[in-house]
Amino acid sequence: MGREVRRVPLNFDWPQNKVWEGFLTPDRLHEDRCPDCTRGYTAAAEWLQVLASRMDMLGSDIADQKRGRPLHPWLAQDSYPPNDAQYQVVRPSEDILDLLAGLTGQDKGHLLNPLRGGDGYRIARKIVEAAGLDPKAWGVCHACKGHGSIEKYEGQRAEAEAWEPTDPPEGEGWQLWETVSEGSPISPVFDSADGLAGWMSDPAQGDRWVPQDVAAKFIDDGWAPSFVGTPATGLVSGVEWVGNPTTEQ
Ligand SMILES: [Zn+2]
Repeated sequence: MGREVRRVPLNFDWPQNKVWEGFLTPDRLHEDRCPDCTRGYTAAAEWLQVLASRMDMLGSDIADQKRGRPLHPWLAQDSYPPNDAQYQVVRPSEDILDLLAGLTGQDKGHLLNPLRGGDGYRIARKIVEAAGLDPKAWGVCHACKGHGSIEKYEGQRAEAEAWEPTDPPEGEGWQLWETVSEGSPISPVFDSADGLAGWMSDPAQGDRWVPQDVAAKFIDDGWAPSFVGTPATGLVSGVEWVGNPTTEQ
C-alpha cells in the first residue's frame, strides 16, 4: 500500500480509512445513467464489436498454433464451428492473416506478435466503412451521443471537467495517509513526527508495523512507493526500503 505523511491541523478529524471528500468528484457532478446504453454504443454496435474481436482471435490462433498452444476455448466451444470429417473443430489456416492484415491495416508480423493488443476495433470500423456508413455516427447511442451518461442539467459535464480536487487543510499535525485509493488518513493525528513514528512502530500495527528508525526516516523523506524491488532484498515494502540504509542502492 502506498503511504504518505501529511501535515494536517491538530484537530483534523476526518475519519480514518475514508477517502477525503476533497479528492472525490461531488455527487452533484455525477451524470445520470443513459437509459438506452451502458457504454455509449447501440446494442448492434456492441454485437459487432464482439464478432470483430472473435475474428481478431482467429489471427491470434495462428501464433498459438506456432507455439503449440491450444485453440482458445471461446473458439473451441463455438456452437457451430468448422469441422473435419471426424467432426473435430478445425483451427484457422494462415490465410486468415491476409484477411485480417487487409482489414486492420497491420502487417502480418504484427498479427503474429503474441503480445499485441486486440485489433477488433479496427476490424469493426472497417466493416462499418465497407457498409458505406460513418463509423463516428453509426453505432453511437442517440440518447447520450456516445457518452454513456446524460447530464442532469445543461453545463454539468463542463463543470465536472473543470472540477479540481482540494487537499485537506494544512497544519501542525502529523498523519499517515494511504494513497492507493484517492487518499485517506490511516493514523491518528500526532503533534510530532516522533509521535507518528512511535505509532507506526507499535507492535499493535500488525502487518503494517515497521521499526522505529525506519518509520522516522520514512517520515523524514515524506513518501514511499508501495513496493520497491532491489536485487539484494527482492520485494520489500516501500516504507521499509526508504527507511533502511542497508537496502538502498
Ligand atoms: Zn446512451
